[in-house]
Amino acid sequence: MSKPNETTSPPSEAAAPQVPGRVLVVGSINMDMVAHAQRLPAPGETLVGQSFVMAPGGKGANQAVAAARLGARVAFVSRVGTRQHGAELLQALQAEGVDASSVVRDPAVLPGVAVIMVASEGGENAIVYVPGSNADLTAADVQAAADQFQPGAVVVAQLEVPVPAIQQAFELARAAGARTVLNAAPALAVPPALLALCDWLVLNETEAQQLAGIEDVEAAARLLQASGARELLVTLGAAGVLMLDAVGQMQRLPAAAVKAVDTVGAGDTFVGGLATGLAEGCSAEQAVRLGMAAAAIAVSRSGVQSAMPLRAELPAEFASMRSLA
Ligand code: ADP
Repeated sequence: MSKPNETTSPPSEAAAPQVPGRVLVVGSINMDMVAHAQRLPAPGETLVGQSFVMAPGGKGANQAVAAARLGARVAFVSRVGTRQHGAELLQALQAEGVDASSVVRDPAVLPGVAVIMVASEGGENAIVYVPGSNADLTAADVQAAADQFQPGAVVVAQLEVPVPAIQQAFELARAAGARTVLNAAPALAVPPALLALCDWLVLNETEAQQLAGIEDVEAAARLLQASGARELLVTLGAAGVLMLDAVGQMQRLPAAAVKAVDTVGAGDTFVGGLATGLAEGCSAEQAVRLGMAAAAIAVSRSGVQSAMPLRAELPAEFASMRSLA
């Protein structure tokens, strides 16, 4: 069932493209500084922590690594300051098999940093993100990577780099016949011109509520679709994903029940899996299921990129999806 050269495709996927696209991530890269404590501190409170690690992160790099671990061919478009830990960040990305040839190296600035606190009881987290060189990614940087935008590719972006760079990426994607996934995280306003270029808008519950200005998550999803995005995927943590498709049909897909150890990066793993599935020619629902299966494993382990699963670690039903590739 999971043989790599299997010739029979699942019947529901008969119309899937024979030549898979690749995943192109346009986004941030930074060093995560992660402190674990029993619980998150209250404002003004100092807690004695249990452990501290530094590890490569950034929503862009995380999603690129998640997709690469799941077997996608991944290229990354970004800007990284080469001072301090910049070289280390690039090496880590390349060690995961991500094509970093379109990452602009900038010796003049510092790379980004995320300071993350994780509660060991329940896995909740709180994050302060300092963008560094990520704030300097320009539309011209993205234009310089134009040959990376190919028909059938899945182009993924988040909101940790400037909107003009993302806008340029999605315009190049449209022109090339690639599909677009915007993970609207962190929750910043998305201009209507960019929303109109989103094939899939992915956000977590809080981001959907903040972006739409509506508490009810289903109503928020409908409003964001009315604002221009073609399909909406709202991640609901342990409750799974709310899908709103292009014709307005809504469904909730449940997540696997796992014991959450560290939920930092759950959304990034989900997006990486989603993009991988889409690039392999899966339906959106199958791609969502792939993303959820990967994220369920990631939250059951500690770490961000280090917790992201290889494709072989997923249940067998997700291995067979690769036969489309
Ligand atoms: P974010 O990390 O952006 O806040 P979520 O917390 O919504 O995003 O998580 C993204 C996805 O990861 C969820 O839709 C779900 O599939 C998976 N996930 C997150 N937390 C859990 C959990 N406790 N158990 C199982 N799956 C989870």
